[in-house]
Amino acid sequence: MKLLGSLVLLVLCLNVMPQRVTAQAPPAAPASVAVQSAPASQTSQYTLPPDKLAKAKALYDLRGKLRVIDTAYSLIVLLAILSLGVAAKYRDWAEKAAKNRFVQALIFVPLLMLTLTVLGLPLDAYQQSISRQYALSVQGWGSWFRDVLVGQAVALVIFTLAIWGITNLIRKSPRRWWFYTWLMAVPFIIFLIFIAPIVIDPLFNKFEPLDQSNPQLVDAIQKVTQRGGLEIPRDRMFLMKASEKVTTLNAYVTGFGPSKRVVVWDTTIKNASTPETLFVFGHEMGHYVLNHIVIGIIATAVGLFIGFYLLYLIANWAFARFQPRWHMRELGDWAAVPMLLLIFSIMSIISQPIGSTFSRQLEHNADVYGLEVTHGINANSQESAAHAFQVLGELSLSYPYPNDFLVFWYADHPPIRDRVLFAHNYDPWSKGEQPKYVK
Ligand SMILES: [Zn+2]
Repeated sequence: MKLLGSLVLLVLCLNVMPQRVTAQAPPAAPASVAVQSAPASQTSQYTLPPDKLAKAKALYDLRGKLRVIDTAYSLIVLLAILSLGVAAKYRDWAEKAAKNRFVQALIFVPLLMLTLTVLGLPLDAYQQSISRQYALSVQGWGSWFRDVLVGQAVALVIFTLAIWGITNLIRKSPRRWWFYTWLMAVPFIIFLIFIAPIVIDPLFNKFEPLDQSNPQLVDAIQKVTQRGGLEIPRDRMFLMKASEKVTTLNAYVTGFGPSKRVVVWDTTIKNASTPETLFVFGHEMGHYVLNHIVIGIIATAVGLFIGFYLLYLIANWAFARFQPRWHMRELGDWAAVPMLLLIFSIMSIISQPIGSTFSRQLEHNADVYGLEVTHGINANSQESAAHAFQVLGELSLSYPYPNDFLVFWYADHPPIRDRVLFAHNYDPWSKGEQPKYVK
């Protein structure tokens, strides 16, 4: 469900937030296209053939509606859990079963999460059925359900620790818990980002060294990394077997310190020409070189500092107002946890444009870097990039005319339309201007 999803996202997907790439290649152009022989055709704008455009429009409208329904539904579920006394009942069971608060957490948090997951399952399954219907996903239901269970298991570990920690801090320091929570959250998030590629990601997808299956591609990539004046060791490049589940393309940078790496989906290599794959890699390399993960962590830390303080203020107000109605004894009571989640969710919804705008800027910077670092390596670096976006958009049925307000509010990447235009027109070299990142 969205609420849990967004909370997990906050913690887990930092490693996905600023570093998802979006670049693709020609649908039918296999990797046999030589690096130096990029097509001379001109992709000057993002367009879809009529049948795909109709599908993309239908999908865009449907997803827009689902987003509203999903958001409203997740808030209503939390409200219901509070007002129907479900949270208080779970608290009573946990407290009856054990004196120790950690053991209580081991009872209360799974009960709460199971409730949220079960209630959110129909909507999640519907979203997956849409992805299958539009042929964006090829994942079977058994595999999908397994992923849900594994995801919940991972989230359960994280949430149990987090909720146990926060409620303890609230009880011990009613005035400064928000600060101590922040103090503990930041290293916890860094730790999660560090272990995610090693411990969490392999639970959902298979990874292998890129060198193993695509040594020539790695050779070509190393030309790009050298051009950027950077050594990304070969063993920091991975291939993800995305084709077992999806038809769309992607690549990303993830991890922190010793676990930092670049991951390319196998669907990218299958669908993109080598120059286009190199551009995709160049974009990811941009995230890597420009330290977008660290910037993302710092931005998250700043956001959480403000967020936890606001949570503290709002939670005190809400507690005073709803205490009897929601059967809460104190703010550090288990029964108050759904209220904290509710406030946090509402704050996340309201603050979404800040994160989206920030992310779009980083993505744009990575696009600039990708264009610059492949210039002189790809025969027509602008066209490779523009066409990569064209293929990406076509394969993911990205609607070419998204609503500006929705882009501002939700989009973590610039619209494909803008990226194609930018790639097509970005040419500081012929204008005698200085490239921004790669001289
Ligand atoms: Zn990116």
